[in-house]
Amino acid sequence: MSTPLKAVPATPSPSSIPGGAGPVVFAGRLPDLQARAAAALLDGAFLTEIGWDAHQHVLRPAAAHPLLGRPLCRVGDCEATAVNVDKICPGCRRRMEKDGLDIASLTVLPPRLRPRPFLPAALEGEDCRVVACLRERRRGIAEYCEVHQARLRAARRADPALEESGWRATESPVSVAGEVNFRGLADRVVCEVLLGLQQRCRLDGVKTKDSDLRVFAEHLRRQQVRRLQDYVPAGPTVGTLPALVGSVGTHARRAQSSTEDEVVKDVWDLAVFGQNGTLDFTGISQDWLRRAAKRWAADDLPRRRVRPNRRTSSGLAVRHHIGCLARLSQVLRLREDGGEVPAALSRTDMETFLHRLAYLESCGQISKDARTRSCREVRAVLTRIRAMGLTRPGQIAARLGEDFALHTDDIPAKPERAEADRDLPGEIMRQLCEQLDRIGPAHMRTAVELAIDTGRRPEEICSLRYECLTRDGEGHPVLLFDNHKAQRLGRRLPISETTATVITTQQQRVRARYPLTPPGDLVLLPTDRRNPDGSRAITPFSAAFSHRTWIKSLPPLITRDRVEFDKRHIVLYAYRHTYAQRHADAGVPVDVLCELMDHRKITTTQGYYRIGEGRRRGAVDKVTTLQFDRHGNRIWRQAAELMDSEHVRRAVGSVAVPFGTCGEPSNVKAGGHSCPFRFRCTGCDHFRTDVSYLPDLTAYLDDLLRNRERIRAAVELDDWARAEALPSEEEISRVRHLINRIRSGMDDLDAGEREQVHDAVTLVRRHRTLALGMPRMRVAPLDARQEKQS
Ligand code: SF4
Repeated sequence: MSTPLKAVPATPSPSSIPGGAGPVVFAGRLPDLQARAAAALLDGAFLTEIGWDAHQHVLRPAAAHPLLGRPLCRVGDCEATAVNVDKICPGCRRRMEKDGLDIASLTVLPPRLRPRPFLPAALEGEDCRVVACLRERRRGIAEYCEVHQARLRAARRADPALEESGWRATESPVSVAGEVNFRGLADRVVCEVLLGLQQRCRLDGVKTKDSDLRVFAEHLRRQQVRRLQDYVPAGPTVGTLPALVGSVGTHARRAQSSTEDEVVKDVWDLAVFGQNGTLDFTGISQDWLRRAAKRWAADDLPRRRVRPNRRTSSGLAVRHHIGCLARLSQVLRLREDGGEVPAALSRTDMETFLHRLAYLESCGQISKDARTRSCREVRAVLTRIRAMGLTRPGQIAARLGEDFALHTDDIPAKPERAEADRDLPGEIMRQLCEQLDRIGPAHMRTAVELAIDTGRRPEEICSLRYECLTRDGEGHPVLLFDNHKAQRLGRRLPISETTATVITTQQQRVRARYPLTPPGDLVLLPTDRRNPDGSRAITPFSAAFSHRTWIKSLPPLITRDRVEFDKRHIVLYAYRHTYAQRHADAGVPVDVLCELMDHRKITTTQGYYRIGEGRRRGAVDKVTTLQFDRHGNRIWRQAAELMDSEHVRRAVGSVAVPFGTCGEPSNVKAGGHSCPFRFRCTGCDHFRTDVSYLPDLTAYLDDLLRNRERIRAAVELDDWARAEALPSEEEISRVRHLINRIRSGMDDLDAGEREQVHDAVTLVRRHRTLALGMPRMRVAPLDARQEKQS
């Protein structure tokens, strides 16, 4: 007959006990100060949710709990855990075998013998003397329950010198399925384990096996540690137990940490600062520099971007600064004093640092960009250190010389950014879209489709809420998204009905999977891992992984030139560039595209696309219908007859001059700085102008006329000087003639053509600084094939 369990008093509700969470955890008893501090971080609702028994110090989570639950044996009245495939616990299996039953006849299996129900306290016997045990002593016979009496006998046989009081304190309780016994653990350790478990459930959303928790509690009891950080991991080094121990310990430590505690360490856990990863100062050997670097990092981190439950690159940026300081420290170590004396450092040491970076770049150990960033970041930190007053007398870097600094001209020029070319060609996009069905899980396909359709950043796609689709006043679909990079939340993007259907289909999938979660708590693309309630989204990393797997599985992608396209260019972010390019090619004005891309500056948008070849040609064709030489003779009257090579030549074989272009080869080669005729363009045969320069020509004519009147009226000039300063009448009449020719050319057009030319001129002029095609200057020589054609 089994031993009866002790009575279980009702756990008081958190609100019924004054004095914070400590009494809630310990049923009204006030634990020591450290335990109370940890208990104060516990949420009473969480304790209730996980079935914490404050009187008995036992955890009894419901079997149906999404993270702490367990699979129950399928035999009707059995409450044992059954982890095997047929969901029958070992006890019931033995009973089945004994009775000769099979799975089909489970219903006739007799009920299990249950332990005696709890008794009122007045009828209870004395407790078993093993601290962790919840059972009663065998009345009148022994000090222990039956199980522990037997265990003690066995322990004495194994160790005749067994110290019984120690055994009582550390002996394990009788294991009960679904129950984790924390008796015999220090109050502080109990609070810390509960705290770690709370954070693990809330932040990680990861499942925890009750069997792992039982083993963890048993190890803690054996070691009798006073605080969790003193625990030495025991038992298996693989499986789920070490992960549980590690995460509970880390969460408990982080929850109790303060930045004041962290900043004195040499390796910081950035989670305490809201970032991810660690920050390691051990690479900086000089005491003053390491302390100053810590002060800088502590000053800098609060200004960095943070996102709940998400990694950001902020920690990485700070780590990079510290890495650059470690490189500086390495150079200072070569000094006789090891660089330990700030006052002894001078410009020479900084030059040594610069030489070292140049050497590392020459050896290929660092990139040009890394060299530039190293200079820039060391400069930023040293400047900030001075601004923080750390170089004042008595401070960390007292008397650090003013010449121990980096200046802007010490920073190597940053490599010029390549022209935007990260978009994917149309024919490649077509091939990709034809094979979307091959993307693995449906939600990953949705992510890729949305990236293609909307051009949002991977991070923005992954973090879409379930309720991300809405309609504008006219009923057109609008995507709601958060631009985390620029901290602009609740942005709106017009989308097509096709994209809206992709979203609604995914919404249906999510709802079917998480029917109980309120829609406001759901995400559109829930991850498959650690996500019991559908509130955790896939990460950009996992989306990129699925996308890469899909791309690799595709057959070779062929360009229109019949060559294989390099699949390494097909990354999720390339769809954003493709989106920008697609809209630019369709004639979307840059200011509208800026809005669509959710950029603050048009210049940022302009970096995302090239002026589309088709659009450029269209604009060039339009303006070339009204192109003139210096005499006002119209050239290329039929733009449609323009040869392809001529289009290219116009783009690469001319150089911008005021109100037109110059085709003089030596001047083009010199980038427009080597006119052999002192820029007398309106009298030069190499000069061309067109309708897009009409405003410039008009302004120039006004300027010439104004100058002519001013110089004529001037009394302080000699005649020869006046004659030389006066604009020539030939130039004035030539410019006036050009203007008249262009205007009359416009008058010859009908209203529709005039409108088209006007649009083309607007486009050409708006993007002229971007070298949109008219009038474009390139120093790069034509390739051999083009030169032969021209
Ligand atoms: S004067 Fe002639 S060669 Fe000189 S820049 Fe003008 S167009 Fe070119």
